[in-house]
Order: sequence, then C-alpha cells, then structure tokens
Amino acid sequence: MMAKRRPLIAGNWKMFKTGPEAAELAKGLKAAVSDMGGVDVLVAPAFTAITVVADILKGSAIDVGGQDLFWETEGAYTGQVSAPMLKAAGCSHVIVGHSERRQYFGETNETVNRKIKAALKGDLVPVLCVGESESEREAQETFSVVKEHLDKGLEGIDGDGLAKLIIAYEPVWAIGTGKTATTEQAQEVHGFIRDWMEKVGGNSIANTLRILYGGSVKPGNIAGLMAMEDIDGALVGGASLDADSFAGIVGGSLGAAG
Ligand code: PEP
Repeated sequence: MMAKRRPLIAGNWKMFKTGPEAAELAKGLKAAVSDMGGVDVLVAPAFTAITVVADILKGSAIDVGGQDLFWETEGAYTGQVSAPMLKAAGCSHVIVGHSERRQYFGETNETVNRKIKAALKGDLVPVLCVGESESEREAQETFSVVKEHLDKGLEGIDGDGLAKLIIAYEPVWAIGTGKTATTEQAQEVHGFIRDWMEKVGGNSIANTLRILYGGSVKPGNIAGLMAMEDIDGALVGGASLDADSFAGIVGGSLGAAG
C-alpha cells in the first residue's frame, strides 16, 4: 500500500480566546506538542490574537493560520483583513469557506473562489472547507453538494495552486454537535474528494493532497479516523481550545499513522 501523507492536525479557535487567553493556550500547546515529530500542527486564532500567538510559536513546529480573509489586498473595506496582513502577522495558512461563514456571513462558492485565489497569490496555504448540511445528507445530496463546493470554489485554480491546497471535509451536522460521522461515512466522502482531484488536477496532485476531517474530533476518535485510507488529519474546533485535548488528538493521529 502507498505510504500515507504526512498528517496535519489543525485547530480552529473560532471566536474564542482574547489575546492574553490565546497566549496562555499557545504556551500550553508549545510545551505539549512541540516534541511530537511526524505530524504537522496548525492553529487558527481570532485575528486579534494572531500576532501574539505567532510570536510565542515562532521557532516551534506549530504553524499559525487565519480563519478567513478578504480577496482584495488593501482598500476601503471596513472590518476586512487581507492576505498580506495575515502573512505579515505570522500566518502561513488560512481557512476558507468554513460552514459557519457560509451559514452566518453570506459566504458563497463564488466568494470562496476569490478568497482561495487571494490566499494563493499572497503565499498562504488555503484550507478549503466543504461539506453538506443534515438536510442535504438526508436528501442524498452529499456528493452533489461537495462536488459543487469543489467545482465552484476551485474554478480557475491551476495545478500549482491545487498542489498547495488543503481540503477539509466537514459535514455541517457533525460540527460542534458531538455527532461524528462514522469512519466509513467520512472515508466515502474523502475518497470522492480525492477522485475529484484526480480528474481535475491529475494523479500526482491527488495522491499528495491532504484531506482533513472535521466534526467533533476528539482524542478518543482520531485514531479510528486516521486509520482510513483517505483521511490525512483533522480540523478541530471545540477540542482545540484545551492544550491537553488538542495534544491528545495530535498524539492520536501519530499513533495511527506511524
Ligand atoms: C470546526 O468548526 O471546524 C469543527 C470541526 O468544530 P468541532 O470540532 O467543534 O465540531
């Protein structure tokens, strides 16, 4: 069997943690996670905490990302943050198209596409989130929704861009609900995403593409997920807000991958 891709565990801190609280968490993570080789680790604090977290994590094995960005580089766009701003604040990655942004802030596949392009142009690795809602799953629309997220979100991205990208499959019904997709449900969609990438980007890009699972990932369920062929890591919300539980997920991902 082909060697699996290097795992990536990413923490999305959402709208939690002030600067001082984020600094505490970053210090805890640095101590708990920095000596684990063999896995990439990323945290995405709120915009107001990026600089302080990036300073603390400088020189560690933990990367920092934004939770969103705007597609213009600068201008009269009150409240927005651009790729160059994230980069200068210490980010290497940025989450794009999280379901909470799609649900509450009018994010569409078209705006996602502009943001992916802006991230790549700004030398940030985009983590594109895709996934169906509960009613879409019940209506057997999972694959068509995910396909549309990919077709439209990645329209016009060339091979170099596709090769840099990370994709997170996050079934909306499993986010913050305590309901995790079964490992088989997750694998089925991850396999579908890799097949999509093979058709659009070719075999080599599809084989190296890292596809993360997101939705109520915890230390106790990461190993089962990571054992699946096309699951290369996790995008973690709630359980990333505590250094011990996040470190447990990082460690659990290694156990299964090693
Ligand atoms: C997320 O928001 O990306 C997420 C997966 O959240 P949680 O782990 O809390 O379900």
